Amino acid sequence: MIGWSEQHKAIFDMVRRFIDVEIAPKREEFEHGDTPPYDVLRKMMDTFGLREMAKSRFAAQIEKEKAGKSASESRQSADAAAMQMIPIIELSRHSPGMVTALGVSIGLTASAIMKKGTIAQKERWAPDLLTLDKVGAWAITEPGSGSDAFGGMRASARRDGDGYILNGNKTFITNGPYADTIVFICKLDNGAPMKDRPILTFVLERGTKGLTQSKPLRKMGMHSSPTGELFLDDVRVGREYLLGESEDRGSRAGAKSTFTAERTGVAAMALGIVEQCLQKSIEYAKTRVAFGKPIGDFQLIQLKIAKMQVARMNIQNLVFRVIELAGEGKTMDIAEASACKLYCAGAAVEVAMEAVQLFGGNGYMAEYQVEQLARDAKVLQIYGGTDEIQVSQIARSLLA
Ligand SMILES: Cc1cc2nc3c(=O)[nH]c(=O)nc-3n(C[C@H](O)[C@H](O)[C@H](O)COP(=O)(O)OP(=O)(O)OC[C@H]3O[C@@H](n4cnc5c(N)ncnc54)[C@H](O)[C@@H]3O)c2cc1C
Repeated sequence: MIGWSEQHKAIFDMVRRFIDVEIAPKREEFEHGDTPPYDVLRKMMDTFGLREMAKSRFAAQIEKEKAGKSASESRQSADAAAMQMIPIIELSRHSPGMVTALGVSIGLTASAIMKKGTIAQKERWAPDLLTLDKVGAWAITEPGSGSDAFGGMRASARRDGDGYILNGNKTFITNGPYADTIVFICKLDNGAPMKDRPILTFVLERGTKGLTQSKPLRKMGMHSSPTGELFLDDVRVGREYLLGESEDRGSRAGAKSTFTAERTGVAAMALGIVEQCLQKSIEYAKTRVAFGKPIGDFQLIQLKIAKMQVARMNIQNLVFRVIELAGEGKTMDIAEASACKLYCAGAAVEVAMEAVQLFGGNGYMAEYQVEQLARDAKVLQIYGGTDEIQVSQIARSLLA
């Protein structure tokens, strides 16, 4: 893929019009009020037929699986992958937080269930997540373990008759405060040394006895994406809540394929952020006058704009590669996905901070939006694996 088709451009326009009416005028409310993002996201999905599309794709996939074909046989075309990417890119121009909330629910949480669940589990939990009728959360991080998610993990499952007793605390969980369905990753308490304990993945439902979901945590940016803590105190679940209903299915490899999807997803978010910063910077450079001329006449301002354009082109090409691979039923391997995330996250932060600089004092003010995008962009270097973890992943694969 080397460019957007006319049809893609028409969809960009339609999504832009929706955002201009439904989201941009209420930015303050979503950013600084207590309005969770889910209703407007449902409306957006309805407007573009995405909920219906999700339902029919799910039905087709389950039918194939019931007929004995594997889930991976139902591949989407590059065009379908592009159609899914467009709302993410466009929404990221205004509210990367909403993309995070949406992506964790219909991406990470539903995908984990679709990858590892039994057919009955998929039918029970996935359709409502894929349509955002229910909000999903995917919980691996703990107060004592983030980058070293498995090494430091304390959350546990103890066998109890035909079920399990779950305990542990999770933190920084996107959608945690509002989630109806939670994918909870923990270690089987089988008496083995901690490092050797098998990883198990459970699905928890809101309101389960012993499960507490905190209020949203205060944070630097991504305010339209609620982030919270989960506390599990002797939560008893039956075996049907264990994904795959087998202790062999919750492997570290399963969580790693989720990391890959998360990392390539960052490219689309970074593209939206960079495009918005670039567009706003160009408009501002043409109209803001200093020393008797538009600031766009100064070479130091031109350098900022030129560098933003280089970043935009590079990120867009990575997005095209992700789309093209999806069309071939492939994804980047973990090292390439890490390189993609490392570059895109860093470029988004640099571009957004340069946009703040280009806007001068106005850049520091909320009214001009680039300060929001700078705060929002920063987390791209932290979640889904920090920059430092991406570096070690890339280097490990090259030096192996
Ligand atoms: C807004 C937000 C939303 C999030 N959403 C979710 C979610 O939905 N679900 C979920 O499970 N988690 C979520 N997270 C957690 C996120 O994935 C972790 O914060 C991240 O992986 C980093 O872990 P940590 O915070 O424990 O940092 P640490 O692992 O403690 O890292 C601290 C510092 O040490 C560095 N470091 C650590 N190990 C190494 C190493 N080997 N080499 C070099 N440097 C190293 C790190 O790069 C970092 O700079 C979210 C986080 C945020 C901020």
